[in-house]
Amino acid sequence: MKLSINKIGKLDGKTCFICGKYLLNNTSGDLAYIRLGNGQSMKAKPDKYYLFRCPKCSRIGHKRCWFDHGEKKIKRGWFKSPDWQLVCPGCGSVLSDKRPEKIDWKEGYQIPGYPDQELYELVVSDVFSWKAGSMFSKVRTAIGNFFTAVGLGSLTSEENKAIRDAADRIGKKFQHISEKVFRLEIPEGKTTDITSLTCQNCGAPLPVPDPLVEAVVCEHCNTAHLLP
Ligand SMILES: [Zn+2]
Ligand SMILES: [Zn+2]
Ligand SMILES: [Zn+2]
Repeated sequence: MKLSINKIGKLDGKTCFICGKYLLNNTSGDLAYIRLGNGQSMKAKPDKYYLFRCPKCSRIGHKRCWFDHGEKKIKRGWFKSPDWQLVCPGCGSVLSDKRPEKIDWKEGYQIPGYPDQELYELVVSDVFSWKAGSMFSKVRTAIGNFFTAVGLGSLTSEENKAIRDAADRIGKKFQHISEKVFRLEIPEGKTTDITSLTCQNCGAPLPVPDPLVEAVVCEHCNTAHLLP
């Protein structure tokens, strides 16, 4: 199941229990391959990779790490080729039957019993967008003279409420609001000088708010703008 950019944020800072690296980091080895109908395989487009959560102990790891370290060879005697079985490297639970072969990664390996559609799917470009956006919660960036970009997570509860109300007015839900929020910072008394506003993310015109309105949300891209 493809993770939205907002959901990707929930994985920020969490690590793979197998390799110890961040779940939001991947190498080219993690990238997904899909099996085609004619028996061949190709790299999935756009670039994506998967995370798998152990159904027994709930630990999450890169699918590639499960492939590399979860698939265990089961010996069957000297002259017989070994079987393969998926065993959780965290809790030791056996997660599949024994199989005579392990499908190669580039031939579209799937976790036995858990096809890719049931795994967490991360599109690499979405992960980049999240990382670029999350920088804004740490660094306030001045845009032009009047707007400052801030992260949704860094707002006060009053600001959150203002955005919630603004989203409500256009029939959107708070969880759809983009991570990057723009704050209009102009001197007091100058607010009546605002005669037009454009979305700082997509350029669409925003309604000019009455003086009591504290936030507007762009109908096109769900970007919130806080007003003085
Ligand atoms: Zn890993
Ligand atoms: Zn486990
Ligand atoms: Zn917009």
